[in-house]
Amino acid sequence: MFFKLQIIYFLVRIKLRDLFRNRAQIEHFQQRRWHRFARTILPKSTFYRSYLNVPLDQIPLMHKALFMEHFDEINTVAIRKEEAMKIALQAEETRDFASELNGITVGLSTGTSGKRGLFLASTKERAQWVAMVLHRVVKWSIFKRQKVAFFLRANSNLYSSVQSSVLAFHFFDIFRKTEELVAELDLLKPDIVAAQPSLLRYLAEAQQIGNLSIRPQQIISFAEVLHDDDRTVIERVFGVKITEVYQCTEGFLGVSCAYGTMHLNEDVAIFEKKYVSKHRFIPVVTDFTRTSQPIIRYEMTDVLVERTTPCPCGSAMMGIERIEGRTDDVLLFEQDGKTISIFSDTLVRKIARATDDFSHYSIRQVTENRLEVAVETEPKSKAIVGQLIETAILEVLEGQGIKNTVVVFTEEKVSEKGAKHRRVVRTFKKIL
Ligand SMILES: [Zn+2]
Repeated sequence: MFFKLQIIYFLVRIKLRDLFRNRAQIEHFQQRRWHRFARTILPKSTFYRSYLNVPLDQIPLMHKALFMEHFDEINTVAIRKEEAMKIALQAEETRDFASELNGITVGLSTGTSGKRGLFLASTKERAQWVAMVLHRVVKWSIFKRQKVAFFLRANSNLYSSVQSSVLAFHFFDIFRKTEELVAELDLLKPDIVAAQPSLLRYLAEAQQIGNLSIRPQQIISFAEVLHDDDRTVIERVFGVKITEVYQCTEGFLGVSCAYGTMHLNEDVAIFEKKYVSKHRFIPVVTDFTRTSQPIIRYEMTDVLVERTTPCPCGSAMMGIERIEGRTDDVLLFEQDGKTISIFSDTLVRKIARATDDFSHYSIRQVTENRLEVAVETEPKSKAIVGQLIETAILEVLEGQGIKNTVVVFTEEKVSEKGAKHRRVVRTFKKIL
């Protein structure tokens, strides 16, 4: 009961806070919250203790590898990495996700990089998270209990906590057979479906051929980049606008508004911008609500495209045109001694204009001048689709003055079960 009261408390607080109408109000709020956070939380972290009186922009940048390396010193709840990892892996193995350590929920995340990460959340942090999701994402009603179908790589305490009189959560473990998932979903007839875009696309296709017959009133997309062509198909088939959520181990970072603009949750975190080109940036996140595991100047691996005009919804929180993908979704080429970046979105859009005659495809840059492409399509149109994709890719590259790149077709299956659905990826290492 205490947990639910906490959720209500945070819900009311967020509702009051939504009155922000200009940047100055937001920045003032962020500064106040950051100073309070620094004063109360930093002394509890061995790693951050000495930065107590250091201005935020002078605290060193954090990234995933460093974060995992200093896991024990960073967290404020005296949890050791080995211990937490053991529990999280066990949970993954047994599919029993009631894993807690000293009253702290422990979860394993792989993120898009596939490298192991750990997250910690106290009851209070969980209540705050739930309140935020209820307020910003889910279209709930006090009059009708909504059935939510939630597709996850792993169940976790964090999500199980949203079980109440207004929402009934049903978890679908995406490692199970997809036909089984579709059959169960069809029986459930959910009001809300939350899943990664590649799975939503699969569900839309199942609905189209008659294997699925559901009429959700809200569709939530998270965990992967939502591409325009997927969005179009999903929204057309189900007849609802997708709510896009930007959520990862590092926190609940943003959600799209009624006008389709993604707004960053600036009332939870400070977002510094590390520009990679004009209007494109990597966010550096300082979350002033994560107390068990401080997230301070944490450099994400996503590239965001900023919105340059105010959003018609009236929100003053930072608007994002789109999430372009992770930094290793950026392809890198050398030409005349210069490094040229090609953003995945550029390729995806160009290909979308050239052909729509495939179910999935992937492009991997394996060396500086070699791209490997796999396409799933009807056997009869394979050759022509391959040709169209190759031409589209080469046109984009030549437009940037990049020559001597070879495009090779491979037979690998594009969508691997449980794996993130990524269309464009660079597999060789290079610092951006
Ligand atoms: Zn908006």
